[in-house]
Amino acid sequence: MPVKKLTQYSFSRLDLYERCPWAYKKVILEGVPRVSNEAMVTGKMLHVLIADYLLRLINQKQQTDWQWAEGAAPKDASPDVLQIWQRFYNSFVLPPALEVYGVEHQLAFDRNWQPCEFSAPEAYFRMVVDFHFLQGDLAVVLDWKSNRVVPETVEKDLQLRTYGWGLKQVAHPDAQEILLRLHFLRYSKEREVLLEPQDLEGVPEILADKIKIIEEDQDYDPTPGSFCGLCGIPAHCPAMAQALMPIEVLAPATRDQAEKAASLLLTLQKMEKELAARLKEWVREHGVIHVGDMVYGPIRTISYGLDPQLVTSTLLEAGLSREQVWPLLSMTKTNLEKGLRKLKRQDLLKLTLTSASANDSEKIDFRKINS
Ligand code: SF4
Repeated sequence: MPVKKLTQYSFSRLDLYERCPWAYKKVILEGVPRVSNEAMVTGKMLHVLIADYLLRLINQKQQTDWQWAEGAAPKDASPDVLQIWQRFYNSFVLPPALEVYGVEHQLAFDRNWQPCEFSAPEAYFRMVVDFHFLQGDLAVVLDWKSNRVVPETVEKDLQLRTYGWGLKQVAHPDAQEILLRLHFLRYSKEREVLLEPQDLEGVPEILADKIKIIEEDQDYDPTPGSFCGLCGIPAHCPAMAQALMPIEVLAPATRDQAEKAASLLLTLQKMEKELAARLKEWVREHGVIHVGDMVYGPIRTISYGLDPQLVTSTLLEAGLSREQVWPLLSMTKTNLEKGLRKLKRQDLLKLTLTSASANDSEKIDFRKINS
């Protein structure tokens, strides 16, 4: 079947192609619906809630409206969404005196990269910006993130540069610089990156090159990897079907078979998390599930927040010696690193590690190629 070409692109479409051309072909060109995962549902719901809230604040000329926000969460929202939403409205204050702003601002550009209507037939590249406003000469752009991980720093990647470029063309042509602020909703933490005029140069050309590669692709080969658990179409994927079938995958003898086995293992690892999240949700609503002689359901555990100082003094008072007590307070490099980061004394990590004995070990696992 000939593959149809697209007439409209967006950054998320380009991103999907880069993650897996086969997923792009199925979802975008053939319209196969993606099975949504928990992260997608949470992100979508929060974006809608926040946009409604911001529009209300702007229209009412208020900086907060906790009473409205409290009653705004949908009844069917998950506990996760409710918790994140509550954290958001309790900490968010609308910057005062906004004159130029946009909430879920839809931007579109034609084939010559000139602004046009979002719904116009000539709209070739589209983007939606979560929230932006002007502060003097500075355009501020906020992107709501529901990720579970907050990076230490933010790169000026193509997605951020595309947002910056698009906004400068349409909404803030006089802004000297663009401040992109990623707001991590789960933790009320923000990461910022400042885009200067040179960062916006050449953005349409880069996007056009990427589109050209997509349009010239004849094969749309599947590329199994860390995205397999999130693509939402593994049931339509030949790589998955192939990986699951041959018996030699269970006992690989050649490199080719080993690659198939690794592909299967990676997919199972990624999917396990998703599957467990959905099953947990089901169990919470409908109760435990029996599988043969096993039961899948809640298991209660008690965890203790042990204070090292209190534990030490209790044990010393009970007659143990320091030599017996210290080894009980096991410390990991990760904990030490986290603790020092909280104290803003990461500089002490190296010094502390020099006093420790190092055990060199090896494990075989997946890692990103460039790490
Ligand atoms: S399962 Fe992996 S290889 Fe297959 S379509 Fe999804 S991302 Fe691509």
